[in-house]
Order: sequence, then structure tokens, then C-alpha cells
Amino acid sequence: MDTRLKDYLNAATLELGGAADALGDGHWRYAVDDDQIGWLVLNCTDASVNTISDKVLRELDAHLGQIEAEPPRALILRSAKPAGFAAGADIHGLADMDADTAEQLLTDAHAVLNRLQGLSCPTIAVVHGAALGAGFEIALACGYRIAIDGASFGLPEVQLGLHPGLGGTMRLPQLIDPLQAMQMMLTGKTAHTSRAKDLGIADLVVEERHLRAAIHAVVKGEVDQQARGLMGKAFGLSAARSLAAEKMRREVQKKAPKDHYPAPYALIDIWAEHGDAPRAMQKAEIASFARLLQSETSKNLIRAFKLRQKLKQGGKAHCDIARVHVVGAGVMGAEIAAWVAMQGKQVSVTDPDEGALGRMIRRATEICKDAHKDGLATRDTLDRLMPDPKGYGVRNADLVIEAGPENPEVKATIFADLGRQMKTGAILATNTSSLQLEGLTAHVPAKTRFAGLHFFNPVSKVPLVEVVSHGSTSAATRTRLMAFCNAINRLPVAVADAPGFLVNRALMPYLLEALLMLDEGIPKERIDKAALEFGMPMGPVTLADQVGLDICLDVAESLNQSLDTPIADIPSLLREKVEAGNLGRKTGRGFYDWTDGTPAPSSSVAIPADLTDRLILPMLNACAECLRKGVVGSVEDLDAAMIFATGFAPFRGGPMHYAAARGFGTVRARLAELEAAHGARFAPDPYWAEHA
Ligand code: NAD
Repeated sequence: MDTRLKDYLNAATLELGGAADALGDGHWRYAVDDDQIGWLVLNCTDASVNTISDKVLRELDAHLGQIEAEPPRALILRSAKPAGFAAGADIHGLADMDADTAEQLLTDAHAVLNRLQGLSCPTIAVVHGAALGAGFEIALACGYRIAIDGASFGLPEVQLGLHPGLGGTMRLPQLIDPLQAMQMMLTGKTAHTSRAKDLGIADLVVEERHLRAAIHAVVKGEVDQQARGLMGKAFGLSAARSLAAEKMRREVQKKAPKDHYPAPYALIDIWAEHGDAPRAMQKAEIASFARLLQSETSKNLIRAFKLRQKLKQGGKAHCDIARVHVVGAGVMGAEIAAWVAMQGKQVSVTDPDEGALGRMIRRATEICKDAHKDGLATRDTLDRLMPDPKGYGVRNADLVIEAGPENPEVKATIFADLGRQMKTGAILATNTSSLQLEGLTAHVPAKTRFAGLHFFNPVSKVPLVEVVSHGSTSAATRTRLMAFCNAINRLPVAVADAPGFLVNRALMPYLLEALLMLDEGIPKERIDKAALEFGMPMGPVTLADQVGLDICLDVAESLNQSLDTPIADIPSLLREKVEAGNLGRKTGRGFYDWTDGTPAPSSSVAIPADLTDRLILPMLNACAECLRKGVVGSVEDLDAAMIFATGFAPFRGGPMHYAAARGFGTVRARLAELEAAHGARFAPDPYWAEHA
């Protein structure tokens, strides 16, 4: 028996000797303690986190049969996994299911949760860590939820092109303010402990050591449920729901057009139509979930989810890096250092500019706040993050990350200096985005332990990191760096030392094409709108302003110089803006005016037919070239990298998946047409013909 479970059972003062037999050896174990409280503990076999599969639910059903026959004073459901309550449904089981099978399976699963809800004894879900998706829906079928401090609750199914499918659409709006419930389901956002208490999801929030007292308070009827469902009464009338639903549709439309993301609209329809009839709502939820599972959007979003898992797998080796030294506390160095410290590593940072070190500490506090870290966790992060102007930390570091200016001479001086101090076996990684590593090796202490760790800005928001190997980087170094990325909760992708690596190489033709269109006089709003309608998170002109027009110009020039065939002529408007000092967001003005915050794209402009292909196909063409040249190892890695670094329309499953859906032959023919119309930069890469 694992020690965590033992702890729980000890906490419940179980007679371990006799009760151990009664626990069962499947995913669930059940026992009754001396106070006649039943403990149903979920501990999925062969997994570090609980996921809710068909088998887990069938086992639960069998236990419920036993509990119905001999009801305890109260039934507690909890997890034996340190990681949390449960992470949601087993997505692998769902992905390839046809609609009829899914509908039958869901109907059976709903019956199990109805049975749990109908038990004659009080039922209490005790939640530590995260209760997500189907895990949260099990907790919702209980009469009470006790949150252990730090717990969180969420229904993130919209992120997979679905909505809750195990009764969540019905039970959450019954439990809390229906508008808040819909908001949670429509955004997929998680409610952390205090928010969950305020919303009414958690009846009590306690520390683990007070759990027993909390359970007894519930059993004795001391926990008030009076306020529950009051808000729901206002929306018992279908006219009130219709009005609210219309407003929700308008809000959703701003972020997720129906053609691309049907799930939120389906969810709103279910609530508007059946919000006052729980059983009808349950039936509608099942049918709608089974239908959505067949949609291309859901299949592609589930693909993106699996691609994320695959990237994580690439970094599954044990991480042996505990101490990190960062050189340079500018935009990137500060972000990297703060993020790495928040993830538990010891970090020291040098920069000749002491002001930069001060700004880094401020940035670290902001990042902790965004990540919902409490005061203690923020203080621990800051304790691990050491401004180190003299660079004493270099000698003890297992990994040194260089994030100094993008200038080969400056980097050479930094490397030579580090070489005299770094300990044997330590890795040196550069965050350069446009210099090739091969040209930087002359001054590094050990070529086999020199590589690129290309983080993206902002590190806390963009999960991908390119792990760049040059000709002499050892496989061991790459493995250690991939494991490091995993340990700091970022997604590693292995790429070769080619100009622009993968992501910037693929993104730059798209950005340049957008800026060339500006040169031709096409309005920026029209260009941005075409990209947004395709499903990119931001238009390319806005993106160029965000990145900084000076950086765009640098990267474009550097890529044009190092590639066999330059991407495109540098757009003259780009040069003019940079010369005038209008560098984008950071100076308040670029192509857009940023003085009043992020510019909103206009919705009224029309988009000419070939504009979208002109933007997107050069990016696909560069992706094809990267695959042909082995810059990235597989189509899956490429699609994942582009989704998790650039936000490439995730509901399309990644650029190469999108190209495959259109047909490589079609993509090639379309590129040839664009080449005839606009020039050689559209010449189809040989990859398309080779793999058609
Ligand atoms: P930055 O100009 O904001 O920061 C560079 C920092 O290095 C400054 O604080 C400067 O004081 C410091 N510095 C100067 N000389 C130094 C020395 N000898 N030793 C230590 N520190 C020194 O630049 P940045 O945007 O943070 O870029 C840093 C690196 O990250 C570059 O290689 C860049 O290509 C790469 N990068 C940048 C971005 C981005 O979006 N800005 C994204 C990915 C990668």
C-alpha cells in the first residue's frame, strides 16, 4: 500500500490490518473507519495522476452497489495521488470513438454519477490539487466538496473542442450562479481555492490537518447549504436564459468564431433550451458531446493535446540540473531567470546594468502573481533568484544560460570569461535567436556541452523551447537540456542549428509577406483580419509591432544573408519605421498606435480571395523546407512547435496537418499560382512533390 494512502487511511483511524483486505486492488479502494465513515479512494494503477476512464467508472459503480447495500454515516471520495484529485477524462479512449459508441458510453457513465448523487448518506468529495474535467464532474455529483488549501477546480473541455460530458453542464449551473458556471465552462478557466469558495464550488476550505473536523462538521449538518441554487432561480425562466445566452454568444464570437469552435455555441444552446430541466439537459449534453467528438475541430485539438504530451515525453529523462546561472538580465534573461526560479531551481544572474537586475526582481513578482502563487511561494521564488553582479554563481552552476546582446563579438567575450569559471560537466546554452551556433563555438569551454536553449518572449506565456544542437553537441547534452525544459514546465523540441532554427524560419516569411502587402498599399487591418479569420491568435502586422520592428528587421536580414535563397526583399515601410524610431509597442508607435493599449482589429473590412493563402502558404513552404532539411525530426514535432510557439490555429492541428488536409498536391499547385502572380519567393519547396 502506498504511504500516501496509508496516511489518509490513518487519518481516518482505520484498522489497517483488517480493513486492508476490504480495499480492493483496482483503481478504487473502499473501507469504513471506526466512525462508520466510508472512504472511497481513487488511485489509478500504473499512472502518476488519476484520469477517469470507462474502467474507473465501472469500478466506481461496483463499489456504489456495495455502499447502497450498507450505507456508511457518510461517504468520502478522495485521491491517493499526491498530484491531485483527478486530471479529467482519459482522452486516448475518447479520441477515435464513433458517435453511437460515445453516446452509449456516456449514458452508462451518467448513470454511475446519478447513482452516486442518489446515495442515501451524505457524500463528500475531498479535493487536494486539481479536480479537472470528469474529475471535477465526479466531485460535483457529491453533496459536498471540501477543498484542501491549494485545490483548484475546472472544466477545460472547450480547449479540446468539447464541453463537459459527464453532467457538468447540468450540475455546475445548479450549484453556483449559472452565469459564473457558464463563464467557467466557456473559457475553460480554473477556479483556485479562494475563488472556488467564493463561487460556492467548495463548501469548506481547510488545511489537511483539519480535515477530520471538517468532515465531522458536514456529517453533523453544521455546513449550511441554504444559499445554493438561489441564483439559478432567476434563470429558471427560459426568456431570462434566452437573453443571457444571446449576450454570451456575442461575447464568444469575439474570440472563437462558430465555424472554427462550435463547442461553446453548443453549450450555450443546451443551457438556453434545457436550463430548467436537468434530465433533458443531461440527454442533450450526451448527444451534443458525442456529436462534437466527431468534429474536425475537436479531433485537431485532441491532436494538439497529444502533441503536447509527445513533446513532454521527449524530456522525460531525469533532470540533473539544480543550479542555473543566467548571463544578461534584459528582456529575455529576466524572464528566463524568474521563470526558472519559480519552477524550483536555484538561479543566479549577472548583468553589468544593475538597474536590469532590479527590474528582473519586479518581473519575477509579476510572474508569480500571474501564476497564482501565494505570498509564501513568491517569497521562496525570490529567495531562489539571486542578483549576482560579480558572477560568483557561475562556478557552482550545472547550466549557464547566456542571454546577452545579440552580437557575436559580445557573446564571444562572455563565453571566454565563462570558460575560465564554469565547473567540469556544466552545460553552456545560448538563447540567441538569429546567430548560428557553429559560428559561436570558437570560445566556448566545451563544444560537446554547448547548445542553444531558444526561449520565446514572454517565457511565462509561450510554452515552447527550441533545444538547438550544432555539429558537436553531444546527445547527452541534448537529453539533459530536454529534461531541464520538462522540469521547468516548458515544452522542449529538438532542432538543428539551421538559420532561424525552426520557428523563426517558418514565421518570418509570413511576417515579411504581410509587410510587403503593406508596401503594396493593402490596409493593415485587412491583412490582420485575414490571419485572425484563418485562426491565428494575432494578425501579423500587430505581431510585428509586438515583437519590435527593429528585431523583425534584424532577424529578416540575418535570415536573408544565411539562407541559400533569401526569403523576400525587405519591405521598405519596415526600414522606414525602424529608421524613424517607431519600433512598435515598446515605443508606443509602429504600424499601429499603441499609446492607448493593444489596437483592436476592425471587423468591417473585406478580405480579397488570395490574401489568406499569400500569408499562410509561405509559412507552410518554409515548414516543408525544414522537414526536407532535417531541421526538425518529425511532422508531429513541427506541428507541435508551431502551435506552442506561435499559436498556429490549433483547431487546424498544426501547419503540416493543415497542408495534408488540403492535400500536398493542392498546396503545391497553389504555391505555383502565387509564384506566377507575385514572384519567386512562392516557388514550391521540393518536399511537396516528394511527399504528394
Ligand atoms: P536585451 O538587450 O533586452 O538584454 C541584454 C542584456 O544583456 C542587457 O540587460 C545588457 O545590460 C546585458 N549585457 C550587456 N553586456 C553584457 C555582458 N558582457 N555580460 C552580461 N550581460 C550583458 O536583449 P534581449 O531581448 O533580452 O535578448 C537577449 C538574447 O535573447 C539575444 O541573444 C536575443 O537574440 C535572444 N532572444 C530575444 C528574444 C526577444 O524577443 N527579445 C526572443 C528570443 C531570444
